[in-house]
Amino acid sequence: MSVRVRFAPSPTGYLHVGGARTALYNYLFARSRGGTFVLRIEDTDAARSTDESVRAILDSLTWLGLTWDEGPGVDGGNGPYFQSERRGIYQRHAAALEQAGRAYRCYCTPAELDAMREEQARAKLPQGYDGRCRGLDAPTRARLEAEGRPPVLRFALDPAGETVWEDVVRGRVAFRRDVLDDFVLLRADGLPTYNFACVVDDHEMAISHVIRGDDHISNTPRQIVLYEALGWEIPVFGHVSMIL
Ligand code: GLU
Repeated sequence: MSVRVRFAPSPTGYLHVGGARTALYNYLFARSRGGTFVLRIEDTDAARSTDESVRAILDSLTWLGLTWDEGPGVDGGNGPYFQSERRGIYQRHAAALEQAGRAYRCYCTPAELDAMREEQARAKLPQGYDGRCRGLDAPTRARLEAEGRPPVLRFALDPAGETVWEDVVRGRVAFRRDVLDDFVLLRADGLPTYNFACVVDDHEMAISHVIRGDDHISNTPRQIVLYEALGWEIPVFGHVSMIL
């Protein structure tokens, strides 16, 4: 297997030491295996991403000597390397999931979602989207559309069973799928959520090993169910501790 790893910072601030350490591990792993180190800028949060942070991240990585083989300024044929420029790619895969019945439009308003969460808290039920827009009939959907509610696209999760992976750092990790809900793939403005964009890009960029901080461990089962639904090969995961 040809080793391809990536560092995927969100440009919402300076590169901190934990991020630099994650980048270093990816860089060293790529170098030790004759692999490729990809830099991808995860800037789909338009409100918090800034050009200044992008510049600071690129400058800091360069200063540290963690030079990337593919990424901003170095085209390896898998770009663009800024998520904000990949909107069409996410929409294409989202449409495929919707067509296959693995994603559905949800018209719930923020107020309705708040009320749902309050009710769940009161009833001491697990928190999460309850799937009320899954399987809406055509007249109801048409009525909600006519009300001008902008839909989000949610993943249609099969809650039975467990999602398990062999993490190269932490060993076997298992999550019950009923603790994952029908999470959002595309927001109402058409921009992808982190989990969806990350899976699409890691696949499109042929990433073989995902090495990242263990603050992302609860995202991994959501990403694995997406790989499965899309029929894509699942990369090797390694979650490194955030603080030494
Ligand atoms: N943009 C994410 C972050 O900065 C990347 C997570 C990942 O490596 O998948 O935390």
